[in-house]
Amino acid sequence: MRLLVVEDEAALAALIGAALQRAGFAVDAADGLRAADDCLRVASYDAAILDLGLSDGDGMTLLARLRRGGDALPVLILTARDAPEDRVGGLDAGADDYLVKPFHMPELVSRVRALLRRPNAALGVRLEAGNLALDTVTRQAAAGDAALPLTARETSLLEMLLRRTGRVVPREAIEQGLYGFDTPTGTNAVEVAVHRLRRRLQDAGASVRIHTLRGVGYMLTGE
Ligand code: CA
Repeated sequence: MRLLVVEDEAALAALIGAALQRAGFAVDAADGLRAADDCLRVASYDAAILDLGLSDGDGMTLLARLRRGGDALPVLILTARDAPEDRVGGLDAGADDYLVKPFHMPELVSRVRALLRRPNAALGVRLEAGNLALDTVTRQAAAGDAALPLTARETSLLEMLLRRTGRVVPREAIEQGLYGFDTPTGTNAVEVAVHRLRRRLQDAGASVRIHTLRGVGYMLTGE
């Protein structure tokens, strides 16, 4: 599981990163909105921890943009603003949870774990490409009018690819997203998973293709 921590206070960012890494997560740190954009452009994350008061802007603008674009990335907001209306505002804007500073690290870790267990229930998103559709809440995929039964892992893989339709999903991001740190290195688990998903999509008549970009990753396109 890969997390993005957006926090401009370097000391706090380091503490958060260390706590999450100890908990078994892969963590990327961004010290502002621009850095966060760069990270989101090149990597796929399972959740983000987002400070609101950033040196180059308000974290809320990033959250709003993600949600407008249909991105259901689970987001936990960190805020020093403890006025109740601010918290409600954050949740209205599409945050999944929030913590008010100062907070205890174990609390942050357990909240992040809870976020990752939650199937984006409040954020029903239908992802589509070609005649293929995936409901991220019910986890049901369909090709045209026909239901497309997939395993949980195949569904996760399809979701990762659909969230970045037309863009490359790095192989490493898929590995982390599917297996966390449980994958023995040197296995071709990702290749096998992609191969299986391709077969399923083809058999179901889905009008999409999963392209292999050797040494880089995979990209799904609609036809
Ligand atoms: Ca800050």
